[in-house]
Amino acid sequence: MNAQSKSQPFANVAIVVVAAGRGLRAGGVIPKQYQPLGGRPLLAATIEALVAAAPGATIVPVVAADDHDLYVAAVRLLSPNATAAMATPASGGETRQASVKAGLRALADALPDTEIVLIHDGARPFVDGTLVAAAVAAARAHGAAVPGVPLADTIKQINEAGVVVATPARKSLRAAQTPQSFQFRLIHDAHTRAAAAGVKDLTDDAAVAEWAGAPVHIFPGDPGNMKITEPADFARAEARVIADLPDIRTGQGFDVHAFGPGDHVWFGGVRVPHDQGLEGHSDADVLAHAITDALLGAIADGDIGSHFPPSDPRWKGASSDIFLRHAADLVRARGGLIAHVDGTVICEAPKVGPHRDAIRARLAEILDLDLDRVAVKATTSERLGFAGRREGIAAMASATVRLPLKSH
Ligand code: MG
Repeated sequence: MNAQSKSQPFANVAIVVVAAGRGLRAGGVIPKQYQPLGGRPLLAATIEALVAAAPGATIVPVVAADDHDLYVAAVRLLSPNATAAMATPASGGETRQASVKAGLRALADALPDTEIVLIHDGARPFVDGTLVAAAVAAARAHGAAVPGVPLADTIKQINEAGVVVATPARKSLRAAQTPQSFQFRLIHDAHTRAAAAGVKDLTDDAAVAEWAGAPVHIFPGDPGNMKITEPADFARAEARVIADLPDIRTGQGFDVHAFGPGDHVWFGGVRVPHDQGLEGHSDADVLAHAITDALLGAIADGDIGSHFPPSDPRWKGASSDIFLRHAADLVRARGGLIAHVDGTVICEAPKVGPHRDAIRARLAEILDLDLDRVAVKATTSERLGFAGRREGIAAMASATVRLPLKSH
């Protein structure tokens, strides 16, 4: 090992993340890798885990062309470290095997000096540093290696009539996980040859290496490295993500804007017609500002004015979804999630009720949250005070976030 690879053990390592499948067994209308896990798409959770496990490695995602918009939305939520590790995504093929081949091809073009490649399912978000280090070491030592876990169940081989034809000895069986790891030339060559030979339905990359005649070594897998397939898997995975975010914080925010000339106000990113407008440096979205401050308060990171000074001309007339999204990004950059936001608008008019659902939906969209994590309420102040005299509108909000424990 040379000095460079000692200080950067993953410098010549790339990880192809396979995320081009339709994954509809998990339920839902979008492929499972884009369904939320712990407040972000499953694929984003998997990529964050890989980047933390293999700092310095390049991530090569393989995604379906039809999923381009979902992919863009997923990687928008990545931390700066993960964003820096991402290569341009490769377009998936007809089968998993074809998708991996496309990823390897893209890698050969972009980073021909790659020494070791790991190939990982986009739906395995609990991969950790121990498993990745074992995978890299096994590929260096053996050329082709797969994490395998012993089986608890006895496996039966059946025929088309459903009759058992063989019971292989359980001791000799392993369930193959990912990341599967290879010397890059070996697996790139094996995939190229298999495709040229018309072999196209092998379900993992070890099988491709086996087909090409390479001995595949098994190293111990991690029973916790689950693959998310069914709806119940999402529920189990969600519980695990939540358990890893035990530091619960609540922040609050408050904002006021005065009425002025105009014909609408903004509530949580929704334009509400009114016979006056609200004065302010930005779009004067009083509810969005209160929620932004609540989020910043929950992570003790200043307030909306310190992040977006009114003296800065960039924010003149700015749409407040910028402020909300920035606060949400700061929570996610800490590895946290937003559990809930709750805002109250205080005014005599306009009425909020008819717009409540639209406002909730818009806030959920801006913050990348499920709708049931966003509450919007309204009250008058019984004609008392500035709101009661219709001089302006106030809003208050609270936000609950969950953070990982700080590593010391
Ligand atoms: Mg304000």
